[in-house]
Amino acid sequence: MRSDKADPQEFGLSTLAVRAGQQRTNEQEHSEPIFTTSSFVYASAEEAARKFSGDEPGNVYSRFTNPTVHTFERRLAALEGGERCVATSSGMAAILSVALAVLEAGDEIVASRSLFGSTISLFDKYLGKFGIRTQYVELSSLAAWEAAITPKTRLLFAETPSNPGSEVVDVSGLAEIAHRHNALLAIDNCFLTPALQRPLSLGADLVVHSATKYLDGQGRGIGGAVVGSDALLEDVFGVVRTCGPCLSPFNAWMFTKGLETLALRMRAHSDNALRLATWLEAHPAVKRVHYSGLPCHPQHELAARQQAAFGAVVGVEVKGGRQGAWSVINATRMLSITGNLGDTKTTITHPATTTHGRLSDEQKAIAGITEGLIRLAVGLEDFCDIQADLAVGLDAL
Ligand SMILES: *Cc1c(COP(=O)(O)O)cnc(C)c1O
Repeated sequence: MRSDKADPQEFGLSTLAVRAGQQRTNEQEHSEPIFTTSSFVYASAEEAARKFSGDEPGNVYSRFTNPTVHTFERRLAALEGGERCVATSSGMAAILSVALAVLEAGDEIVASRSLFGSTISLFDKYLGKFGIRTQYVELSSLAAWEAAITPKTRLLFAETPSNPGSEVVDVSGLAEIAHRHNALLAIDNCFLTPALQRPLSLGADLVVHSATKYLDGQGRGIGGAVVGSDALLEDVFGVVRTCGPCLSPFNAWMFTKGLETLALRMRAHSDNALRLATWLEAHPAVKRVHYSGLPCHPQHELAARQQAAFGAVVGVEVKGGRQGAWSVINATRMLSITGNLGDTKTTITHPATTTHGRLSDEQKAIAGITEGLIRLAVGLEDFCDIQADLAVGLDAL
């Protein structure tokens, strides 16, 4: 790993998270430096010509090559087990870059209907303007995915597990369907991260990330990434190079340092979440808990097979509809009332009136967003403190 060669895959995930992708300068600094520079200089006109033409690898301009961004890209590629990664300015920029790279006017997408809201808007409102149509299907039903595919389908796009329903899709099965129909499979791996799920090893062609969430894990900034084969990523790189949704070196540095604790954090998030889901399930004020780590979850076995753990996001339906949910939220003293997730701090959300507030009643019903549903993105505080904060409102219901 001292060399500039591809990071050897025989290293374990925690080792890669700490060390992959680092290239030291002549100063031999131990920690990764930040290159805050827009451009680079050359020793001669000949060298400049070789770097610009791509005949010689090297840095040209930070919209498309920057050493700090490159370190983050190589580290994340190693963790996902992909040949190459291209970093982007946000998770949405990652998804847009995939779309611009692989789709043409007239192509179709088949996507899970429980996707992140802005992804649905991107597909319908913006890609729709260019004649790209998206069909939405139930995430877990492979038969529904296959039935929605037409000869024009070029991309299958899924987020697994879903948020906040904790539905899961069999990624290997979905990859097989995609490839049989000459389509690509992209997985948004934001909620589990490569510490808990590696979609490329299950047959997916592309992984997209909002680094804003657990890759950083500390709520400090916005960023994203796409990971996959050299051939596909060359096209994604072309989009980022030309259209400009590039990641800033400072955020790349922050995410690189975030990755160093990824495996530890995801394990701790999952441990806290599983304990909380188990406790919530037995609470008399709780109607239902959505968490694929619970043995009663309809896809628990599949989740246990394709994931190393079950992640931080727990959906809980309480008694008393909206008033019940709001009173539990308002009774907390410590938990952060916010729509965001992917933080060391536990966040609590009422999806029906915030993150999913713009959906119609019918869309909410399809997505399982009931008035009594609360979403928890369980953080790294002591378990008993999270539990005690929720117990105040729940015990009063
Ligand atoms: C947040 C999120 C995104 C978008 O990422 P940004 O960094 O906010 O642009 C995409 N997918 C999922 C699953 C997310 O949670």
